Amino acid sequence: LDYYFSQIATQQHLNVFNEVFVDSAKKQAVSVQQKIDNGTAGKLAGMVIGIKDNILYKDHITTASSKMLEGFISPYSSTVVTRLIREDAIIIGRTNCDEFAMGGSNETSYYGTVRNAADTERVAGGSSGGSAVAVQADMCLSALGTDTGGSVRQPAAFCGCYGLKPTYGRISRYGVIAYASSFDQVGPITSSVSDAALLLEVLAGADENDSTVSRLPVPDYLAALETTSPKKIAVLKETLESEALDPDIKAAILQAIAQFKAEGHTIEYVSFDLLDYLVPAYYVLTAAEASSNLSRYDGVHYGHRNLQAENLNSLYKKSRAEGFGEEVKRRILLGTFVLSAGYYDAYYQKAQQVRRLIRDKIEALLVDFDVILTPVAPTPPFKIGENIQDPLVMYMADIFTVLASLTGVPAIAIPLGNNKLGLPLSLQLMGKHFEEGALLSLSKSFT
Ligand code: GLN
Repeated sequence: LDYYFSQIATQQHLNVFNEVFVDSAKKQAVSVQQKIDNGTAGKLAGMVIGIKDNILYKDHITTASSKMLEGFISPYSSTVVTRLIREDAIIIGRTNCDEFAMGGSNETSYYGTVRNAADTERVAGGSSGGSAVAVQADMCLSALGTDTGGSVRQPAAFCGCYGLKPTYGRISRYGVIAYASSFDQVGPITSSVSDAALLLEVLAGADENDSTVSRLPVPDYLAALETTSPKKIAVLKETLESEALDPDIKAAILQAIAQFKAEGHTIEYVSFDLLDYLVPAYYVLTAAEASSNLSRYDGVHYGHRNLQAENLNSLYKKSRAEGFGEEVKRRILLGTFVLSAGYYDAYYQKAQQVRRLIRDKIEALLVDFDVILTPVAPTPPFKIGENIQDPLVMYMADIFTVLASLTGVPAIAIPLGNNKLGLPLSLQLMGKHFEEGALLSLSKSFT
């Protein structure tokens, strides 16, 4: 634990942790040590974990990296934190992220940008950028992020880590600050496949506090890693042919495909003609859900309150105007618009229909194949400030990750080494619903 504290202290410039839980982590370490000594320690005994600052931990502050929740003390713990602690993991602190998990570069955080440890002039990715750099820079063994449209996978890819977004409904969302509830999932960011398998095993499974969690039994993912059977892999052709794809990423992926073939897996290039609809459908639907979820932050029930307001209406307005950042406001406005009478049919309903179409197509593909392969992000980590002024450029960069989020299937980002500048490259695999085991076992090929 002291080692990780010192790693954090000497790398403050990366701006990874919004808070280090020094006292509670030390206390936990003492009690875990006692359990280890008397042989009663849990599966994660002593694993030091960072949690994204939108995951509730009782009696600790949670802010979603927003001024809106500055100083908010969680009255209860999320199911994921409860399960980590039950298995004797040590929670070292809460990591910086994009405000309310809205962003792909950690530049929308009220607490400032996170820097990539591979090149401090570049972004960490987002929205779970702090969690990814925490693992990359050895400030904890692994970390939890949340993934609505790529926020575990893309920062993991930018930081050379594994990032797993489980099937929608595999892990409880109880006590996780909502962005878009029909997309949000918690996922681990780790430096090894086996840590991801172990964490998934601990976190997954039914929860009486979240009715969207599946009652399917949780497999022994770690044991399943030992057995690999030949898999049928579909490569989405258009994603590799995309002009926006960085040539080094493409070359690394082609090499990975050759390796899969050499290991006896079947590779087939298939066409996916709905690529252009992914980003629009994702942003219409998530903005709509966000505008509804974030209506609770009114300065009365929750959140920052303006104390000068002369009446209730102006209290709402001023509190929200001051509490939310620019990107969050943009999405609330967009979401309110697409849900409003007269536009609902044209945008929200249409996007739901498109989502269904995409889901049907992917599920049909996953009848013939075990796994779908695409890049995670079109580029390696970009420069801080390079894209943030243009929301459309930012949104388009999510093109490969939102597919799994729209369809609810599990997906993993797998690190594939670095380019000439030392920037991490990566690959994404998507699997059938609730078949995370196949993704984990294929990931073993690259360790
Ligand atoms: N970059 C995407 C967005 O801004 C994904 C965010 C996420 O998964 N939380 O919505």
